Amino acid sequence: MKYVTHIDNPDIILVGSGVMSANLGALLKCLEPSLSMQVYEVTNELAQESSDGWNNAGTGHAGICELSYTPHQEKDGTVNVSKAIDIFEQFEQSKQFWSYAVANGMADHPREFINPVPHLSFVHGAEQVAYLKARHAGLSGHHFFREMEYSTDRATIGGWAPLLVEGRAEIPIAATKMMGGTDVNFGGLSRKLFEWMSHQPGCGVASGHRVTDLTKVTGGWEVVIKDLATGRLQKNRAKFVFIGAGGGSLHLLQKSGIPESKGLGGFPIGGEWLVCENPELVRRHQAKVYGQALEAAPTMAVPHLDARLIDGKKALFFGPFAAWTTKFLHRTGSWTDLPGSMRTDNIATLLKIGIHNVPLVRYLIQQGTQSMADRIKVLQIFYPAAKAEDWKLIDAGIRVQAIKKTDGEAGIVHYGTEVITNADRSLSALLGASPGASVCVTVAREVIALCFPQLLATEAGKRRMKAMIPTYDEDIKLPQNAARFEEVRSKVNQILGLVG
Ligand SMILES: Cc1cc2nc3c(=O)[nH]c(=O)nc-3n(C[C@H](O)[C@H](O)[C@H](O)COP(=O)(O)OP(=O)(O)OC[C@H]3O[C@@H](n4cnc5c(N)ncnc54)[C@H](O)[C@@H]3O)c2cc1C
Repeated sequence: MKYVTHIDNPDIILVGSGVMSANLGALLKCLEPSLSMQVYEVTNELAQESSDGWNNAGTGHAGICELSYTPHQEKDGTVNVSKAIDIFEQFEQSKQFWSYAVANGMADHPREFINPVPHLSFVHGAEQVAYLKARHAGLSGHHFFREMEYSTDRATIGGWAPLLVEGRAEIPIAATKMMGGTDVNFGGLSRKLFEWMSHQPGCGVASGHRVTDLTKVTGGWEVVIKDLATGRLQKNRAKFVFIGAGGGSLHLLQKSGIPESKGLGGFPIGGEWLVCENPELVRRHQAKVYGQALEAAPTMAVPHLDARLIDGKKALFFGPFAAWTTKFLHRTGSWTDLPGSMRTDNIATLLKIGIHNVPLVRYLIQQGTQSMADRIKVLQIFYPAAKAEDWKLIDAGIRVQAIKKTDGEAGIVHYGTEVITNADRSLSALLGASPGASVCVTVAREVIALCFPQLLATEAGKRRMKAMIPTYDEDIKLPQNAARFEEVRSKVNQILGLVG
């Protein structure tokens, strides 16, 4: 659906209609209903890039099954689980806000964007089995993960996810399982929140409109927008601009000229899925199963076998397979995006990163040029009896990892999310894509705390935030707050339809 509403000189301009802008815009509008805001989106439909259900894995990242959040076993045999605990808490806060949105008529039919699905971790070989056992010991001691089960028994694992054991050779295997995981259609959620916003007084949503430039002016920013249907350029001004343009953010940040953008670069990593719509296999695999990284795989390209529900359609996704690309956006990007992002202030960093990451680049090229037979072999690590005829290859979204000067010195590609804000806090941009959409509410909260502190300074503001994110000012990680965590979670899950 195309949106064409315009607000002149709004308080806020949101660039991009992905899950980040959607949650930031909705949170801000609830916190202060008098704020006016305008959304610009380059594609005709909303949330068609990384947030769209087919472009990401839809995992509600909660640290349950993703082994990348828990590094390998320490020398003393333990596994450090602190990052998994942090991610779990952040995802709980996302769920809290989404349940508020459902309860308050901002997003109807939660099953259209969030569904319960067990999360499993699956490993094989004696070393990985020992690691998973230690990980389970670390996690299940915390109240977030109390229900996590661990097994090395084939029949038990086969009961959890039959495809994992069918036709598997007699090697040691282990898995953990936790109910309470989720599959999220982040695009569906974004579209619901924007639909609600488009009906709020003082809110405009214009799709098919590309933001082409932005300039600092007294009291805020002047933004140049191109209406792609007519080719007409127009200008608008706002006190605050959020660049939530995904892969398009770096380019706009560079255009803004803010000193904080100097030296920043982007490293795109494309993605591809094997997708299966065979109803029999779809019926038999009702879990998200994550494994260990293969070879030089970047952490976000660790393969997993996912049950998905997107726009009422069930499917299995396996991947992502990483792929080399120079595009920053899947739908509207161009092969010149990467070379076009090079500036005198970031070229040295990009070159250092390139030199230090030859194995990664080689891996990405090798991944992208694999044959279908090669890909099926990787799938067979999870599902030994997989047959090529049940699967097709489709493109996934592109993640543009933010590169800072410090990454250049260390020679690493940094897999994180960076919120870049200028000195007078009139502009924020989100770069990077990990951990991703699942923590969008935490990202939005950080932007609000930094750029709109006045909204949280009053008792009324704090009350409104507490209504939206009941534990925003509480540490539910602490053992003494386990009961409070359970109390809030159970209400939230009820509203989102994640129980019974
Ligand atoms: C393969 C893959 C798997 C992933 N799996 C998961 C997962 O399982 N769980 C998870 O939590 N996260 C996952 N992620 C990450 C997650 O998808 C992203 O972090 C999240 O969707 C980013 O949202 P966003 O709003 O920042 O960007 P996007 O959703 O990309 O939205 C940006 C929007 O800005 C628009 N835009 C760009 N330039 C302009 C411009 N100049 N003017 C106007 N509009 C513009 C774009 O068209 C787009 O609609 C995955 C990502 C990928 C690629």
